[in-house]
Amino acid sequence: QPMIRLSGVGKTYDDGTVAVQELDLEIERGELVCLVGPSGCGKSTTLKMINRLIEPTTGTIEIDGDDVTHQDPVQLRRSIGYVIQQVGLFPHQKILANVMTVPLLYGESKSVARDRARELLDLVGLDPATYGDRYPHQLSGGQQQRVGVARALAANPPVLLMDEPFGAVDPVVRTRLQDEFLRLQDEVGVTVVFVTHDIDEAVRLGDRVAVFASGGRLAQFDTPARVLGR
Ligand code: ADP
Ligand code: ADP
Repeated sequence: QPMIRLSGVGKTYDDGTVAVQELDLEIERGELVCLVGPSGCGKSTTLKMINRLIEPTTGTIEIDGDDVTHQDPVQLRRSIGYVIQQVGLFPHQKILANVMTVPLLYGESKSVARDRARELLDLVGLDPATYGDRYPHQLSGGQQQRVGVARALAANPPVLLMDEPFGAVDPVVRTRLQDEFLRLQDEVGVTVVFVTHDIDEAVRLGDRVAVFASGGRLAQFDTPARVLGR
């Protein structure tokens, strides 16, 4: 069974804006799927429906066979990591403490949480000895995004949702983050839904690419080569 299944999903906001229509999407375990399309075509809304920050108006959403369409979003946090462009690290906590919050939240001891946080920082390419004791503002934008990824993976979620995570970093750093992320995703085996407006990023990262058209309709869902018409 697919890791994520959206069936007939639609979202109309309270003001009447139709953001997503009749969306069917099946994402396999361990797959990296990019949602791409122009601004306002419903990508973020789709992502937020998957982790239930937004409730769909129509349709059903299943995660690993469980119907989560009306589930409490707090309950989903353990199975769905979320990384956004404004990563939202706690400004008054050091980097190690920022990542430790998640294992601590799930009842791990301080020493286990600390070990886990160090391991995760390593995984995203930040030496914990160098960066663990810094505060978020002492890191570059790209480094902060890496911490965001580490924190999102701290609960070992089977699904990771990413909304333009590298959108604010300069092109050179972005390419490096993309490469690193591909390696990391392969290593961890997490299923990823990745939102971007950049078709180059989408075809570079995605096992498959879901192309949205304006009006929140899915225009194409295929391999990068086919999306590029090759
Ligand atoms: P994308 O991520 O592709 O840029 P969004 O999912 O953010 O698109 O938005 C899809 C559509 O829904 C847009 O027309 C946007 O203006 C609208 N929209 C997003 N959030 C809200 C909201 N809270 N209330 C009303 N309309 C919204
Ligand atoms: P608010 O609506 O006040 O921004 P939220 O509860 O929506 O608060 O989210 C707060 C932060 O928690 C977000 O910035 C995001 O980083 C994180 N978050 C939200 N949903 C999830 C999720 N499903 N899994 C992991 N982290 C999440």
